[in-house]
Amino acid sequence: MSTDPETPPTFSLELSEDLRDIRGWVHDFAANVIRPGGAEWDEREETPWPILEEASKIGLYSLDFFAQQSLEPTGLGIPVAFEELFWGDAGIALSLVGSTLAAVAVVANGTPEQVAEWLPPMFGEPGDVKLGAFCASEPDAGSDIGAIRTRARYDQATDEWVLNGTKTWVTNGGIANVHVVVAAAEPELGVRGQASFIVPPGVAGLRQGQKFRKHGIRASHTAEVVLDEVRVPGRCLVGGKERLDERIARVREGRRSGEQAAIKTFEASRPAVAAMAVGVARAAFEFARDYALDRVQFGRPIAMNQAVAYMLADMKTSIDAARLLVWRAAWMAHGGKPFDEAEGSMSKLVSGEVAVRVTEQAIQILGGNGYTREYPVERWHRDAKIFTIFEGTSEIQRMIIGRAVTGLDIR
Ligand SMILES: Cc1cc2nc3c(=O)[nH]c(=O)nc-3n(C[C@H](O)[C@H](O)[C@H](O)COP(=O)(O)OP(=O)(O)OC[C@H]3O[C@@H](n4cnc5c(N)ncnc54)[C@H](O)[C@@H]3O)c2cc1C
Repeated sequence: MSTDPETPPTFSLELSEDLRDIRGWVHDFAANVIRPGGAEWDEREETPWPILEEASKIGLYSLDFFAQQSLEPTGLGIPVAFEELFWGDAGIALSLVGSTLAAVAVVANGTPEQVAEWLPPMFGEPGDVKLGAFCASEPDAGSDIGAIRTRARYDQATDEWVLNGTKTWVTNGGIANVHVVVAAAEPELGVRGQASFIVPPGVAGLRQGQKFRKHGIRASHTAEVVLDEVRVPGRCLVGGKERLDERIARVREGRRSGEQAAIKTFEASRPAVAAMAVGVARAAFEFARDYALDRVQFGRPIAMNQAVAYMLADMKTSIDAARLLVWRAAWMAHGGKPFDEAEGSMSKLVSGEVAVRVTEQAIQILGGNGYTREYPVERWHRDAKIFTIFEGTSEIQRMIIGRAVTGLDIR
Protein backbone atom coordinates (compact mmCIF):
# COMPACT_ATOMS: atom_id res chain seq x y z
CA MET A 1 0.00 0.00 0.00
CA SER A 2 1.36 3.42 -0.96
CA THR A 3 1.97 5.88 1.86
CA ASP A 4 3.12 8.63 -0.50
CA PRO A 5 1.02 11.71 0.38
CA GLU A 6 1.40 12.85 -3.26
CA THR A 7 -0.36 9.74 -4.57
CA PRO A 8 -3.87 10.67 -5.61
CA PRO A 9 -6.62 8.62 -4.02
CA THR A 10 -7.68 5.75 -6.27
CA PHE A 11 -10.97 5.07 -4.56
CA SER A 12 -13.78 7.42 -3.70
CA LEU A 13 -17.50 7.14 -3.07
CA GLU A 14 -17.92 10.87 -3.53
CA LEU A 15 -20.23 11.65 -6.46
CA SER A 16 -18.82 14.07 -9.03
CA GLU A 17 -20.27 17.56 -9.18
CA ASP A 18 -21.97 16.71 -12.50
CA LEU A 19 -23.61 13.70 -10.96
CA ARG A 20 -24.75 15.65 -7.92
CA ASP A 21 -26.30 18.20 -10.29
CA ILE A 22 -28.10 15.46 -12.23
CA ARG A 23 -29.30 13.91 -8.99
CA GLY A 24 -30.70 17.26 -7.85
CA TRP A 25 -32.39 17.89 -11.19
CA VAL A 26 -34.02 14.43 -11.30
CA HIS A 27 -34.96 14.72 -7.64
CA ASP A 28 -36.79 18.00 -8.26
CA PHE A 29 -38.83 16.40 -11.05
CA ALA A 30 -39.54 13.39 -8.83
CA ALA A 31 -40.64 15.58 -5.93
CA ASN A 32 -42.65 18.13 -7.91
CA VAL A 33 -44.19 16.06 -10.71
CA ILE A 34 -43.88 12.32 -10.10
CA ARG A 35 -44.71 12.02 -6.42
CA PRO A 36 -47.82 14.26 -6.50
CA GLY A 37 -49.25 12.00 -9.25
CA GLY A 38 -48.47 8.71 -7.54
CA ALA A 39 -51.83 7.97 -5.92
CA GLU A 40 -53.90 9.11 -8.92
CA TRP A 41 -52.08 7.01 -11.53
CA ASP A 42 -52.00 4.01 -9.21
CA GLU A 43 -55.82 4.19 -9.06
CA ARG A 44 -56.17 4.81 -12.79
CA GLU A 45 -53.91 1.86 -13.66
CA GLU A 46 -52.84 3.58 -16.87
CA THR A 47 -49.65 4.86 -18.42
CA PRO A 48 -49.27 8.48 -17.21
CA TRP A 49 -48.86 10.03 -20.67
CA PRO A 50 -49.06 13.64 -19.42
CA ILE A 51 -46.15 13.01 -17.06
CA LEU A 52 -44.14 11.33 -19.82
CA GLU A 53 -44.86 14.41 -21.90
CA GLU A 54 -43.62 16.75 -19.16
CA ALA A 55 -40.49 14.67 -18.72
CA SER A 56 -39.95 14.71 -22.47
CA LYS A 57 -40.26 18.49 -22.60
CA ILE A 58 -37.41 18.97 -20.13
CA GLY A 59 -35.29 16.25 -21.76
CA LEU A 60 -35.61 13.77 -18.91
CA TYR A 61 -37.64 11.31 -20.96
CA SER A 62 -35.27 11.19 -23.91
CA LEU A 63 -32.73 8.93 -25.51
CA ASP A 64 -30.11 11.62 -24.91
CA PHE A 65 -30.65 11.64 -21.16
CA PHE A 66 -30.49 7.86 -20.76
CA ALA A 67 -27.51 7.61 -23.14
CA GLN A 68 -25.62 10.32 -21.25
CA GLN A 69 -26.25 8.66 -17.90
CA SER A 70 -25.21 5.26 -19.32
CA LEU A 71 -21.94 6.78 -20.49
CA GLU A 72 -21.31 8.73 -17.27
CA PRO A 73 -17.62 8.12 -16.46
CA THR A 74 -18.03 6.44 -13.05
CA GLY A 75 -20.88 4.15 -14.10
CA LEU A 76 -23.21 5.63 -11.49
CA GLY A 77 -25.29 7.85 -13.79
CA ILE A 78 -28.15 5.38 -14.25
CA PRO A 79 -28.33 4.11 -10.63
CA VAL A 80 -28.30 7.63 -9.24
CA ALA A 81 -31.02 8.86 -11.64
CA PHE A 82 -33.19 5.74 -11.23
CA GLU A 83 -33.04 5.91 -7.43
CA GLU A 84 -34.43 9.44 -7.54
CA LEU A 85 -37.17 8.65 -10.08
CA PHE A 86 -38.37 5.66 -8.06
CA TRP A 87 -38.16 7.65 -4.85
CA GLY A 88 -40.88 9.76 -6.50
CA ASP A 89 -43.21 6.88 -7.41
CA ALA A 90 -42.37 3.44 -8.74
CA GLY A 91 -45.33 2.98 -11.10
CA ILE A 92 -44.85 6.30 -12.84
CA ALA A 93 -41.08 5.90 -12.83
CA LEU A 94 -41.37 2.49 -14.47
CA SER A 95 -43.39 4.09 -17.23
CA LEU A 96 -40.55 6.59 -17.61
CA VAL A 97 -37.77 4.00 -17.77
CA GLY A 98 -39.58 0.96 -19.23
CA SER A 99 -38.34 1.77 -22.73
CA THR A 100 -34.73 1.46 -21.59
CA LEU A 101 -35.02 -2.33 -21.29
CA ALA A 102 -35.79 -2.55 -25.01
CA ALA A 103 -33.02 -0.04 -25.71
CA VAL A 104 -30.50 -2.06 -23.65
CA ALA A 105 -31.48 -5.21 -25.58
CA VAL A 106 -30.47 -3.51 -28.83
CA VAL A 107 -27.37 -1.81 -27.39
CA ALA A 108 -26.13 -5.05 -25.73
CA ASN A 109 -26.27 -7.19 -28.88
CA GLY A 110 -26.99 -4.89 -31.81
CA THR A 111 -24.92 -3.20 -34.50
CA PRO A 112 -24.23 0.56 -34.38
CA GLU A 113 -26.65 0.98 -37.32
CA GLN A 114 -29.42 -0.77 -35.39
CA VAL A 115 -28.79 1.39 -32.34
CA ALA A 116 -28.96 4.54 -34.48
CA GLU A 117 -32.12 3.46 -36.30
CA TRP A 118 -34.21 1.91 -33.54
CA LEU A 119 -33.49 3.70 -30.29
CA PRO A 120 -34.90 7.15 -31.20
CA PRO A 121 -38.37 5.76 -32.04
CA MET A 122 -38.48 4.09 -28.62
CA PHE A 123 -38.56 7.54 -26.99
CA GLY A 124 -40.13 9.90 -29.54
CA GLU A 125 -39.92 13.62 -28.90
CA PRO A 126 -41.83 16.33 -27.04
CA GLY A 127 -45.38 16.41 -28.36
CA ASP A 128 -45.01 12.89 -29.76
CA VAL A 129 -43.74 10.68 -26.94
CA LYS A 130 -43.16 6.99 -27.75
CA LEU A 131 -42.36 3.81 -25.83
CA GLY A 132 -40.27 0.68 -26.29
CA ALA A 133 -41.02 -2.82 -24.98
CA PHE A 134 -38.82 -5.85 -24.35
CA CYS A 135 -40.65 -9.14 -24.82
CA ALA A 136 -38.88 -12.18 -23.41
CA SER A 137 -41.27 -13.87 -20.92
CA GLU A 138 -43.93 -16.29 -22.08
CA PRO A 139 -46.70 -18.17 -20.28
CA ASP A 140 -44.47 -21.28 -20.09
CA ALA A 141 -41.11 -19.48 -20.02
CA GLY A 142 -40.69 -17.15 -17.05
CA SER A 143 -37.66 -17.96 -14.92
CA ASP A 144 -36.88 -20.69 -17.45
CA ILE A 145 -36.12 -18.42 -20.36
CA GLY A 146 -34.65 -21.37 -22.30
CA ALA A 147 -38.21 -22.67 -22.73
CA ILE A 148 -39.21 -19.80 -25.02
CA ARG A 149 -41.50 -21.11 -27.76
CA THR A 150 -41.96 -18.00 -29.88
CA ARG A 151 -40.50 -19.04 -33.19
CA ALA A 152 -38.46 -16.99 -35.65
CA ARG A 153 -38.39 -18.48 -39.15
CA TYR A 154 -36.19 -17.00 -41.86
CA ASP A 155 -37.80 -16.47 -45.27
CA GLN A 156 -34.86 -16.37 -47.63
CA ALA A 157 -36.97 -15.37 -50.64
CA THR A 158 -37.95 -12.05 -49.08
CA ASP A 159 -35.10 -11.66 -46.55
CA GLU A 160 -37.63 -11.46 -43.74
CA TRP A 161 -38.00 -13.08 -40.33
CA VAL A 162 -41.43 -14.42 -39.48
CA LEU A 163 -42.36 -14.37 -35.79
CA ASN A 164 -45.10 -16.46 -34.17
CA GLY A 165 -45.89 -16.84 -30.48
CA THR A 166 -47.33 -15.25 -27.35
CA LYS A 167 -45.35 -13.08 -24.98
CA THR A 168 -46.56 -12.19 -21.51
CA TRP A 169 -45.86 -9.70 -18.70
CA VAL A 170 -44.55 -7.20 -21.22
CA THR A 171 -43.98 -3.71 -19.78
CA ASN A 172 -45.47 -1.34 -22.40
CA GLY A 173 -46.57 -4.42 -24.39
CA GLY A 174 -48.87 -3.53 -27.28
CA ILE A 175 -48.69 0.23 -26.62
CA ALA A 176 -45.01 0.55 -27.51
CA ASN A 177 -43.84 1.98 -30.81
CA VAL A 178 -40.98 -0.55 -31.04
CA HIS A 179 -41.04 -4.05 -29.58
CA VAL A 180 -37.91 -6.15 -29.14
CA VAL A 181 -38.89 -9.82 -29.16
CA VAL A 182 -36.74 -12.74 -28.02
CA ALA A 183 -37.52 -15.78 -30.16
CA ALA A 184 -36.10 -19.20 -30.94
CA ALA A 185 -34.35 -19.26 -34.29
CA GLU A 186 -33.11 -22.81 -33.57
CA PRO A 187 -35.53 -24.18 -30.95
CA GLU A 188 -33.62 -27.42 -30.29
CA LEU A 189 -30.62 -25.37 -29.02
CA GLY A 190 -32.61 -23.81 -26.16
CA VAL A 191 -31.30 -20.48 -24.91
CA ARG A 192 -28.29 -20.70 -27.24
CA GLY A 193 -30.55 -20.82 -30.29
CA GLN A 194 -32.40 -17.63 -29.36
CA ALA A 195 -32.09 -14.18 -30.86
CA SER A 196 -33.77 -10.80 -30.46
CA PHE A 197 -35.83 -9.23 -33.21
CA ILE A 198 -36.94 -5.64 -33.58
CA VAL A 199 -40.57 -5.22 -34.54
CA PRO A 200 -40.89 -1.76 -36.12
CA PRO A 201 -43.96 0.45 -35.59
CA GLY A 202 -47.18 -0.60 -37.29
CA VAL A 203 -46.08 -4.05 -38.46
CA ALA A 204 -49.08 -6.31 -39.14
CA GLY A 205 -49.70 -9.31 -36.89
CA LEU A 206 -48.55 -7.87 -33.55
CA ARG A 207 -51.35 -7.11 -31.11
CA GLN A 208 -51.85 -6.58 -27.42
CA GLY A 209 -53.49 -9.47 -25.54
CA GLN A 210 -54.70 -9.27 -21.95
CA LYS A 211 -53.72 -6.21 -19.95
CA PHE A 212 -52.91 -7.23 -16.38
CA ARG A 213 -54.45 -5.65 -13.29
CA LYS A 214 -51.64 -5.70 -10.77
CA HIS A 215 -50.84 -5.59 -7.06
CA GLY A 216 -48.43 -2.65 -7.48
CA ILE A 217 -46.60 -0.44 -10.02
CA ARG A 218 -50.06 0.02 -11.47
CA ALA A 219 -49.18 3.16 -13.44
CA SER A 220 -46.96 0.92 -15.56
CA HIS A 221 -48.76 -0.92 -18.35
CA THR A 222 -48.16 -4.69 -18.38
CA ALA A 223 -49.76 -6.89 -21.04
CA GLU A 224 -49.52 -9.92 -23.27
CA VAL A 225 -48.22 -9.46 -26.80
CA VAL A 226 -49.48 -11.82 -29.48
CA LEU A 227 -47.37 -12.33 -32.60
CA ASP A 228 -49.18 -13.90 -35.55
CA GLU A 229 -47.11 -14.24 -38.73
CA VAL A 230 -45.30 -11.00 -37.94
CA ARG A 231 -42.88 -10.28 -40.78
CA VAL A 232 -39.87 -8.09 -40.07
CA PRO A 233 -37.04 -7.19 -42.49
CA GLY A 234 -33.79 -9.16 -42.20
CA ARG A 235 -32.02 -6.10 -40.80
CA CYS A 236 -34.26 -6.34 -37.69
CA LEU A 237 -32.41 -9.37 -36.34
CA VAL A 238 -30.42 -7.80 -33.48
CA GLY A 239 -26.71 -8.27 -34.21
CA GLY A 240 -27.30 -9.43 -37.79
CA LYS A 241 -27.63 -12.82 -39.48
CA GLU A 242 -23.94 -13.42 -39.99
CA ARG A 243 -23.32 -13.28 -36.25
CA LEU A 244 -26.29 -15.50 -35.49
CA ASP A 245 -25.16 -18.09 -38.08
CA GLU A 246 -21.64 -18.08 -36.64
CA ARG A 247 -22.98 -18.50 -33.12
CA ILE A 248 -25.25 -21.39 -34.11
CA ALA A 249 -22.33 -23.06 -35.91
CA ARG A 250 -20.16 -22.72 -32.77
CA VAL A 251 -22.89 -24.26 -30.63
CA ARG A 252 -23.39 -27.14 -33.06
CA GLU A 253 -19.65 -27.85 -32.98
CA GLY A 254 -19.90 -28.04 -29.20
CA ARG A 255 -18.02 -24.79 -28.59
CA ARG A 256 -19.22 -22.05 -26.29
CA SER A 257 -21.68 -19.68 -27.90
CA GLY A 258 -20.39 -16.63 -26.03
CA GLU A 259 -23.71 -14.81 -25.99
CA GLN A 260 -27.33 -15.44 -25.07
CA ALA A 261 -29.72 -12.70 -26.13
CA ALA A 262 -32.14 -12.42 -23.19
CA ILE A 263 -29.65 -13.30 -20.47
CA LYS A 264 -27.19 -10.66 -21.64
CA THR A 265 -29.90 -8.01 -21.49
CA PHE A 266 -30.91 -8.99 -17.96
CA GLU A 267 -27.29 -9.01 -16.70
CA ALA A 268 -26.68 -5.51 -17.95
CA SER A 269 -29.88 -4.17 -16.46
CA ARG A 270 -29.74 -5.78 -12.99
CA PRO A 271 -27.92 -2.97 -11.11
CA ALA A 272 -30.30 -0.46 -12.68
CA VAL A 273 -33.32 -2.43 -11.47
CA ALA A 274 -31.71 -2.75 -8.04
CA ALA A 275 -31.34 1.04 -7.90
CA MET A 276 -35.09 1.38 -8.50
CA ALA A 277 -35.74 -0.76 -5.43
CA VAL A 278 -33.36 1.38 -3.36
CA GLY A 279 -35.37 4.47 -4.37
CA VAL A 280 -38.65 2.96 -3.17
CA ALA A 281 -37.07 1.83 0.10
CA ARG A 282 -35.58 5.27 0.72
CA ALA A 283 -38.94 6.96 0.13
CA ALA A 284 -40.58 4.70 2.71
CA PHE A 285 -37.78 5.15 5.24
CA GLU A 286 -37.87 8.96 5.02
CA PHE A 287 -41.65 9.04 5.30
CA ALA A 288 -41.68 6.69 8.31
CA ARG A 289 -38.87 8.60 10.05
CA ASP A 290 -40.67 11.92 9.70
CA TYR A 291 -43.92 10.36 10.87
CA ALA A 292 -42.23 8.78 13.89
CA LEU A 293 -40.77 12.14 14.91
CA ASP A 294 -44.18 13.75 14.67
CA ARG A 295 -46.58 11.17 16.04
CA VAL A 296 -47.05 11.38 19.80
CA GLN A 297 -48.21 8.48 21.99
CA PHE A 298 -47.73 8.15 25.73
CA GLY A 299 -46.76 11.84 25.76
CA ARG A 300 -43.72 11.62 23.46
CA PRO A 301 -42.89 11.04 19.79
CA ILE A 302 -43.03 7.34 18.94
CA ALA A 303 -39.43 7.67 17.60
CA MET A 304 -38.35 8.02 21.24
CA ASN A 305 -39.13 4.32 21.74
CA GLN A 306 -36.17 2.05 21.05
CA ALA A 307 -38.52 -0.38 19.27
CA VAL A 308 -39.25 2.29 16.67
CA ALA A 309 -35.82 3.98 16.56
CA TYR A 310 -34.07 0.63 16.12
CA MET A 311 -36.45 -0.24 13.31
CA LEU A 312 -35.51 3.06 11.63
CA ALA A 313 -31.84 2.24 12.23
CA ASP A 314 -32.22 -1.14 10.53
CA MET A 315 -34.13 0.40 7.64
CA LYS A 316 -31.50 3.06 6.98
CA THR A 317 -28.57 0.66 7.37
CA SER A 318 -30.03 -1.91 5.00
CA ILE A 319 -30.82 0.74 2.38
CA ASP A 320 -27.26 2.07 2.49
CA ALA A 321 -25.86 -1.46 2.28
CA ALA A 322 -28.07 -2.18 -0.73
CA ARG A 323 -26.97 1.03 -2.44
CA LEU A 324 -23.31 0.13 -1.96
CA LEU A 325 -23.90 -3.22 -3.70
CA VAL A 326 -25.69 -1.39 -6.51
CA TRP A 327 -22.91 1.13 -6.97
CA ARG A 328 -20.28 -1.62 -6.93
CA ALA A 329 -22.12 -3.60 -9.60
CA ALA A 330 -22.74 -0.52 -11.72
CA TRP A 331 -19.10 0.51 -11.44
CA MET A 332 -17.99 -2.99 -12.43
CA ALA A 333 -20.38 -3.19 -15.36
CA HIS A 334 -19.26 0.20 -16.63
CA GLY A 335 -15.59 -0.78 -16.42
CA GLY A 336 -16.26 -4.02 -18.29
CA LYS A 337 -15.38 -6.12 -15.26
CA PRO A 338 -17.11 -9.51 -15.42
CA PHE A 339 -19.56 -10.38 -12.65
CA ASP A 340 -17.46 -13.43 -11.67
CA GLU A 341 -19.19 -13.70 -8.29
CA ALA A 342 -22.58 -12.63 -9.61
CA GLU A 343 -22.21 -9.13 -8.22
CA GLY A 344 -25.10 -7.87 -10.40
CA SER A 345 -27.39 -10.53 -8.96
CA MET A 346 -26.24 -9.70 -5.43
CA SER A 347 -27.26 -6.07 -5.92
CA LYS A 348 -30.68 -7.04 -7.28
CA LEU A 349 -31.32 -9.69 -4.61
CA VAL A 350 -30.46 -7.48 -1.65
CA SER A 351 -32.14 -4.32 -2.95
CA GLY A 352 -35.37 -6.10 -3.83
CA GLU A 353 -35.64 -7.78 -0.46
CA VAL A 354 -34.66 -4.60 1.38
CA ALA A 355 -37.39 -2.68 -0.44
CA VAL A 356 -40.05 -5.21 0.58
CA ARG A 357 -38.89 -5.30 4.21
CA VAL A 358 -38.40 -1.56 4.62
CA THR A 359 -41.77 -0.67 3.10
CA GLU A 360 -43.43 -3.18 5.43
CA GLN A 361 -41.61 -1.65 8.41
CA ALA A 362 -42.81 1.77 7.25
CA ILE A 363 -46.42 0.54 7.40
CA GLN A 364 -45.75 -0.77 10.89
CA ILE A 365 -44.40 2.59 12.03
CA LEU A 366 -47.46 4.41 10.64
CA GLY A 367 -49.78 1.97 12.43
CA GLY A 368 -53.40 2.17 11.20
CA ASN A 369 -52.58 5.08 8.95
CA GLY A 370 -49.94 2.98 7.20
CA TYR A 371 -52.62 0.47 6.26
CA THR A 372 -54.78 2.99 4.42
CA ARG A 373 -54.64 4.66 1.03
CA GLU A 374 -54.59 8.05 2.76
CA TYR A 375 -50.84 7.55 3.17
CA PRO A 376 -48.42 6.43 0.47
CA VAL A 377 -46.56 3.67 2.32
CA GLU A 378 -49.13 0.95 1.56
CA ARG A 379 -48.72 1.77 -2.15
CA TRP A 380 -44.95 1.72 -1.87
CA HIS A 381 -45.16 -1.69 -0.18
CA ARG A 382 -47.29 -3.02 -3.05
CA ASP A 383 -44.85 -1.47 -5.53
CA ALA A 384 -41.77 -2.86 -3.76
CA LYS A 385 -42.89 -6.48 -4.14
CA ILE A 386 -42.19 -6.44 -7.88
CA PHE A 387 -38.46 -6.21 -7.17
CA THR A 388 -38.32 -9.78 -5.84
CA ILE A 389 -40.12 -11.00 -8.97
CA PHE A 390 -39.19 -9.33 -12.25
CA GLU A 391 -35.79 -9.27 -13.92
CA GLY A 392 -35.13 -12.61 -12.22
CA THR A 393 -36.86 -13.61 -8.98
CA SER A 394 -34.98 -13.65 -5.67
CA GLU A 395 -34.74 -17.44 -5.95
CA ILE A 396 -33.14 -17.17 -9.38
CA GLN A 397 -30.67 -14.54 -8.13
CA ARG A 398 -29.71 -16.89 -5.27
CA MET A 399 -29.29 -19.70 -7.77
CA ILE A 400 -26.97 -17.54 -9.92
CA ILE A 401 -24.95 -16.42 -6.88
CA GLY A 402 -24.89 -19.98 -5.54
CA ARG A 403 -23.48 -21.23 -8.84
CA ALA A 404 -20.89 -18.46 -8.95
CA VAL A 405 -19.60 -19.02 -5.44
CA THR A 406 -19.55 -22.84 -5.53
CA GLY A 407 -18.71 -23.46 -9.16
CA LEU A 408 -21.44 -26.12 -9.11
CA ASP A 409 -24.41 -26.41 -11.43
CA ILE A 410 -26.90 -25.65 -8.63
CA ARG A 411 -30.54 -26.22 -9.64
C1 LIG B 1 -45.11 -6.21 -13.55
C2 LIG B 1 -44.23 -7.10 -14.35
C3 LIG B 1 -43.51 -6.57 -15.41
C4 LIG B 1 -42.71 -7.39 -16.19
N1 LIG B 1 -42.06 -6.88 -17.29
C5 LIG B 1 -41.44 -7.73 -18.15
C6 LIG B 1 -40.96 -7.26 -19.41
O1 LIG B 1 -41.02 -6.06 -19.71
N2 LIG B 1 -40.42 -8.16 -20.27
C7 LIG B 1 -40.33 -9.48 -19.97
O2 LIG B 1 -39.84 -10.25 -20.79
N3 LIG B 1 -40.77 -9.97 -18.78
C8 LIG B 1 -41.34 -9.12 -17.88
N4 LIG B 1 -41.83 -9.61 -16.68
C9 LIG B 1 -41.75 -11.04 -16.42
C10 LIG B 1 -40.86 -11.40 -15.24
O3 LIG B 1 -39.51 -11.26 -15.58
C11 LIG B 1 -41.25 -12.82 -14.80
O4 LIG B 1 -42.49 -12.72 -14.15
C12 LIG B 1 -40.22 -13.46 -13.89
O5 LIG B 1 -39.06 -13.75 -14.62
C13 LIG B 1 -40.73 -14.72 -13.23
O6 LIG B 1 -41.31 -15.59 -14.15
P1 LIG B 1 -42.75 -16.23 -13.84
O7 LIG B 1 -43.66 -15.10 -13.48
O8 LIG B 1 -43.14 -17.08 -14.98
O9 LIG B 1 -42.55 -17.11 -12.55
P2 LIG B 1 -42.03 -18.61 -12.50
O10 LIG B 1 -40.79 -18.75 -13.28
O11 LIG B 1 -43.15 -19.54 -12.78
O12 LIG B 1 -41.64 -18.74 -10.95
C14 LIG B 1 -42.62 -18.99 -9.94
C15 LIG B 1 -41.87 -19.23 -8.62
O13 LIG B 1 -41.02 -20.38 -8.76
C16 LIG B 1 -39.69 -20.03 -8.43
N5 LIG B 1 -38.76 -20.79 -9.27
C17 LIG B 1 -38.81 -21.00 -10.61
N6 LIG B 1 -37.75 -21.70 -11.02
C18 LIG B 1 -37.00 -21.92 -9.92
C19 LIG B 1 -35.74 -22.57 -9.69
N7 LIG B 1 -35.06 -23.14 -10.68
N8 LIG B 1 -35.27 -22.60 -8.43
C20 LIG B 1 -35.95 -22.01 -7.42
N9 LIG B 1 -37.13 -21.38 -7.57
C21 LIG B 1 -37.63 -21.32 -8.81
C22 LIG B 1 -39.61 -18.54 -8.70
O14 LIG B 1 -38.53 -17.95 -8.00
C23 LIG B 1 -40.96 -18.08 -8.23
O15 LIG B 1 -40.96 -17.90 -6.85
C24 LIG B 1 -42.60 -8.78 -15.87
C25 LIG B 1 -43.31 -9.30 -14.78
C26 LIG B 1 -44.13 -8.48 -14.04
C27 LIG B 1 -44.91 -9.10 -12.91
